[in-house]
Amino acid sequence: METISFVIPCYRSESTIEKVAAEIRETIAQKSEFDYEIICVNDCSPDNVYDVLVKMAQEDKKVKVVNLAKNMGKHCAVMAGYSVVEGDYVVNLDDDCQSPVYELWNLMDPLLNGEYDVATAVYNEKKESKGKRLGSDLNLWVSEIMLDKPKGLRFENFSVMKRFVCDEMIKYKNPYPYMEGLILQVTKKITGVRMDQRERGDDNGSGFTLAKSIMLFTNGLTSFSVKPLRLATIVGTIFALAGFVFGLVVIIHKIIDPAVPMGYSSTMAVILFSNGLIMFLLGLIGEYVGRIFICINNSPQYVIRNTINVMKTGEDL
Ligand code: UDP
Ligand code: MG
Repeated sequence: METISFVIPCYRSESTIEKVAAEIRETIAQKSEFDYEIICVNDCSPDNVYDVLVKMAQEDKKVKVVNLAKNMGKHCAVMAGYSVVEGDYVVNLDDDCQSPVYELWNLMDPLLNGEYDVATAVYNEKKESKGKRLGSDLNLWVSEIMLDKPKGLRFENFSVMKRFVCDEMIKYKNPYPYMEGLILQVTKKITGVRMDQRERGDDNGSGFTLAKSIMLFTNGLTSFSVKPLRLATIVGTIFALAGFVFGLVVIIHKIIDPAVPMGYSSTMAVILFSNGLIMFLLGLIGEYVGRIFICINNSPQYVIRNTINVMKTGEDL
């Protein structure tokens, strides 16, 4: 018998998390060769989802709760969940009934019958706001360029991977985990399975604002790639060369025709432009330096306050 571990980051989902668990049980019951565990990570949610999780864990020992002391964001919460996984397959899903759990067997098919290590849902039509859409498009573009991701493959809120992928991923201990970057470091045997996405099961609205998406975007940009730094060097060199040539042109112009005015405004424009560019490049370098600083400071990826029904202890966590 193989076990499927469902990892669910929970944030503002006291009204939906039980429905998600019920749907998981219903789906698992369709195939007797699979068992399940449900790992709910409370990302320091402001609602009463923790109380609901405690109740669920008392009623069903297969529901495991990881209670975080601080809100660290979805990706850190998922990493905390991975650290206690015991199953053979790890399914990622959301807490708001948006992930179509009833499609589980279709999603698992490429892993069970094909040679893939990871399968993610590919939604026919996405139900999300324009701001969120812009944020995730930005992230898709970054991961394609920065992480050499297969084109057009968007990691959705419903995916499954073999256990070894998850085991490799949790070796990454730094803050700012970026799921796509971590997965792509482990395997390229990733595929998409087409299905419909559902609406949220409550009316809380997305917990992911454009600001959080932008934060994620900088994670993808700088945590897993030094390409932006190289780009900065190239852009800086081009502008410096252009400035040099422009300076030569001005001097030659003045020698040929001494009557020509030097042009205060054009000088100012050049100064502003080049200073702006320098500031931009400094900022970019600063971002990396800041991250190195935080990493050597050993800032935690997540802080676990307590767990329920979790067998792994101490060293494992
Ligand atoms: N989430 C989290 N911490 C946060 C915000 C969100 O763990 O600070 C989780 C949330 O519990 C959910 C997932 O991230 O499982 C996606 O959040 P949501 O449904 O609000 O965003 P969506 O991507 O659907 O717009
Ligand atoms: Mg959602």
